[in-house]
Amino acid sequence: MVGSSVPISLYFWLVYVDFHTHQNTDQGAYSVFNLPAHASPQAPGSSIGIHPYWLEAHDIDALKLWVESTLKKREIVAIGECGIDKRLTTHLADQTNILNLHIQWAQAYHKPLIIHCVKGHQEVLEALKKANFQEPVIFHGFRGSEQLARQLIDKGYYLGIGDMQGKPSLQQLARTLPLGHLVLETDDSAASIESVYQSVCEMRGITIDALKKAMMETAMVIFGNQINSTYGFELA
Ligand SMILES: [Zn+2]
Repeated sequence: MVGSSVPISLYFWLVYVDFHTHQNTDQGAYSVFNLPAHASPQAPGSSIGIHPYWLEAHDIDALKLWVESTLKKREIVAIGECGIDKRLTTHLADQTNILNLHIQWAQAYHKPLIIHCVKGHQEVLEALKKANFQEPVIFHGFRGSEQLARQLIDKGYYLGIGDMQGKPSLQQLARTLPLGHLVLETDDSAASIESVYQSVCEMRGITIDALKKAMMETAMVIFGNQINSTYGFELA
């Protein structure tokens, strides 16, 4: 229900935010759509980066050219997902070089970073520290321990959490970590963003509107004016 009597700021708060997704569907949410390799941004909020999965199967120089020629477009609100995945056979030094490139892009264009990280958190932290990286960082699809979660939060970073069905350790994190450092996402799961929000509401005993408001406030911090201008709403 959007009538002229509804304050525009209230309507803005009621929008779901999906901080990281690979599904380009309109679920009535503000979604940060992660572009497939060599795609052009269509969605109002898109992220661009070279996924560690792509390092072996793609021409890296062509991917770098694609990112460099696309990241200036107004639809691009974040750099990533990028990072380190120690399950892969790609050499760690090669993964780190590509991560460093993303850190430089994010610094140069003042964009947040969306990090994919499997068993490489200390390497990612070191790369961010070396670069004195000051933009927001989301460790998306977080699966680590509570101790690691607290370490990342202490540094001011955000943890992306998605479908928690059958994942008790993730549910525990969603229940106990500071809400201001959690960001909700669908990633490549079949779960809807509404169902992810619903789970967190039940675990924390808060209303859906309170959660939407908290997530939108975090999105404003992470994406700044871009969420405002790309989504097309003015804040009162
Ligand atoms: Zn992803």
